[in-house]
Amino acid sequence: AKNDGRSTYRFFEDDMAAKIKQRQTLITDLYKATANRELEVYFQPQVTLENGEISGFEALLRWNHSRYGFISPIEFIPLAEETGLILEIGAWVLEEACFLAASWPKPVNLSVNLSPRQIYCEQLLPVVDDVLTRTGLDPGRLELEVTETMLLADHLRVRQTLAKLQEGGVKISMDDFGTGYSSLSTLRRFPFDRIKVDRSFVMSMSKDDDARFIVNSVIDLANSLGIVTTAEGVETKEIAEQLKAEGCTEAQGYYFGKPSPPNQALVWMLGEANG
Ligand code: C2E
Ligand code: CA
Ligand code: CA
Ligand code: CA
Repeated sequence: AKNDGRSTYRFFEDDMAAKIKQRQTLITDLYKATANRELEVYFQPQVTLENGEISGFEALLRWNHSRYGFISPIEFIPLAEETGLILEIGAWVLEEACFLAASWPKPVNLSVNLSPRQIYCEQLLPVVDDVLTRTGLDPGRLELEVTETMLLADHLRVRQTLAKLQEGGVKISMDDFGTGYSSLSTLRRFPFDRIKVDRSFVMSMSKDDDARFIVNSVIDLANSLGIVTTAEGVETKEIAEQLKAEGCTEAQGYYFGKPSPPNQALVWMLGEANG
């Protein structure tokens, strides 16, 4: 048993070393990724449940690594966040997404995710202003998504920054609602324009009565506060219909469309325009 323990320990040690090395490689590569044009913005449709029309798209970052292929944002966003590189990458995503959205055939919404470092950064307001000016995108079409953990520290300055963005016409959404420790008190602290119900609840709705009850309660709560709702992770027609019946405003998920390259977003919009 003692030998087993030691060999397990050694294995663990090697594994850790490999992981640290891989992490370092990814960080180095991430620095080059923007210059090498390895980062791409994909778009996932958001649909108004009442009429089935596209109401907007969420911009989702993709890293097409020259050797490893597609690497999930779940893996590289945290590295970008730790190294501070997220400021550069975040500004790039914002600009690229706004630039593309400004030329869409329908003036639908564009949602862009913000990271904690971005909202604590003094440069956020000037960066957003600058991007809106240069791309010509109507500020009323831009929605920035934040999670409650970013607001937990409850910095006055962060709330002021978000409020200033709203004054300029930009909307602020609360992403992944329900996954944090204090979703309800976060709602009281900031006037969100939209709540995005986390996909973990939505995806469990069909087999878990409690999940369905939670989703319905969040929709009712948001409706009574006058906040628009988006259900994330809608994978079936059945769930989409339940959400519509419950009064959910919009939905996003594989049932309506997967995150896809910019051209596919155009195809979807033009398809609607042609009937
Ligand atoms: P998120 O903001 O919650 O984005 C939604 C995620 O749910 C996306 O994962 C999307 O592909 C996935 N999804 C959408 N519909 C469905 C569905 O019906 N079923 C399932 N199983 N999944 C669905 P993705 O693209 O892998 O992004 C993961 C996370 O990475 C995002 O979660 C967001 O937190 C972060 N991220 C992505 N792009 C950016 C970015 O440009 N900036 C920042 N700061 N974070 C980003
Ligand atoms: Ca999001
Ligand atoms: Ca989300
Ligand atoms: Ca989520």
